[in-house]
Amino acid sequence: MQPTYSDSAQAYRERIQSFIAEHLPAKWDGIGSLTGDAKADFLKDWRQVLRDNQLLATVWPQEYGGPGLSASENVIIAEEFTKAGLPTGGSNDGFGIGMVGNTIIEWGTEDQKKHYLPRILEGDDLWCQGYSEPDAGSDLANLGCKAELDGDEWILNGQKIWTSNGHLANWIFVLARTTPENGKHQGITFFLCPMDQHGVEIRPIVNIAGHSHFNEVFFSDARVSKNNVIGEVNGGWAVAMTLLGYERGFGATTTYFRYRAELDRLVEMAQARKRTNEPAIRQRLAWCHSKVEIMRWLGQQVLTSFLNGEPPGPKSSIGKLNWSEYHREVTELALDILGSDAMIVDGDNRLAAGLGAADAGTPNTSSAWINSFLSARSGTIYAGTSQVQKNIIGERILGLPKEPRSDEGPWNETPR
Ligand SMILES: Cc1cc2nc3c(=O)[nH]c(=O)nc-3n(C[C@H](O)[C@H](O)[C@H](O)COP(=O)(O)OP(=O)(O)OC[C@H]3O[C@@H](n4cnc5c(N)ncnc54)[C@H](O)[C@@H]3O)c2cc1C
Repeated sequence: MQPTYSDSAQAYRERIQSFIAEHLPAKWDGIGSLTGDAKADFLKDWRQVLRDNQLLATVWPQEYGGPGLSASENVIIAEEFTKAGLPTGGSNDGFGIGMVGNTIIEWGTEDQKKHYLPRILEGDDLWCQGYSEPDAGSDLANLGCKAELDGDEWILNGQKIWTSNGHLANWIFVLARTTPENGKHQGITFFLCPMDQHGVEIRPIVNIAGHSHFNEVFFSDARVSKNNVIGEVNGGWAVAMTLLGYERGFGATTTYFRYRAELDRLVEMAQARKRTNEPAIRQRLAWCHSKVEIMRWLGQQVLTSFLNGEPPGPKSSIGKLNWSEYHREVTELALDILGSDAMIVDGDNRLAAGLGAADAGTPNTSSAWINSFLSARSGTIYAGTSQVQKNIIGERILGLPKEPRSDEGPWNETPR
């Protein structure tokens, strides 16, 4: 199950390690040590370094501006950057390069590729994802945002929600209903919509930790050119599913490193606070250790398939379920180790405000652990809830009988 790398891949790993050593800022602790303007400035400069060295959009083929690397070279980049606490792009590149860029390469016309891909690489267009709605999340095909053709333009009306980094974006990819009478999945189209127009309003949502990285987006007669449909009109569901496949990215290889580093920091904190002598704490730390090791083996399994050219398929649901449920437990343990200090927000309360395991370099402060604890709640929801992952595992891996599906049948405009 352990993936093996060829001699040339190992040589590539050494090249990437040298690149990192050469370009790292002095006294680099990891992106987790930065917040606010310092973090934004670093991300901007670092993105440019990656761009200048052909290390941005590394999965894209050369004809569209990528370096055309092999699967193993891409895995090596993801591994080495994660270990060094370095991002592989800017704030919205996950949506731009990772999701819509890859989807345009697969589904777009030549004109769409020529227009959008260079703009994503240059950082002119910053993207966000307009899928979820108040009445369409797990049951995404229930979406009700509507698009009607008016001459050479589509007119969009409706609402999206939980739009991550929408406040930083100037473009949104939107799933909208174009032919309601076609049925739930058959009447949906995939649009590329500019956000700097009168008919698009973004309202921030404040999360449980008091931060605001996601938004509501309202469309009121927003206009989208006829040329901005990806795939066929009413054929957006297939395009949407392609994009969701890219949402998983290289998580299989990077997840373990991030969660291992986070757990090591927690053990350090427990030792510094002399809590490792307590059997109950030791037992919970040991449980966390075993979960992180399981994460490593699950990652290796997915990675081995990936390097053999096989898509991860439903197996990736096991990894998602494991890390997201684990993260709730480990962050709760962190607060128990902090004890009454967990009621005090010390230092910068923006540390570890992101999603998943806190980035390398995050200090062992109570505020960082409080933020991790609060944000860990959302890990079991985004990119597919735990219940949905369990359904996938039950039905598609274990072969259990199928449950009645909520996303079948005709589309019904009336909210349930
Ligand atoms: C931090 C964060 C960032 C996000 N960013 C984005 C973004 O950028 N763009 C975007 O479009 N969306 C985004 N989302 C939305 C995310 O995709 C949805 O929250 C998710 O799909 C769940 O949908 P929902 O919130 O409507 O919950 P629901 O689907 O309404 O689920 C409610 C509950 O019912 C359960 N449930 C639902 N269906 C089933 C079933 N068939 N079987 C068993 N149980 C079921 C769920 O597990 C859950 O417990 C984000 C969400 C979070 C938390």
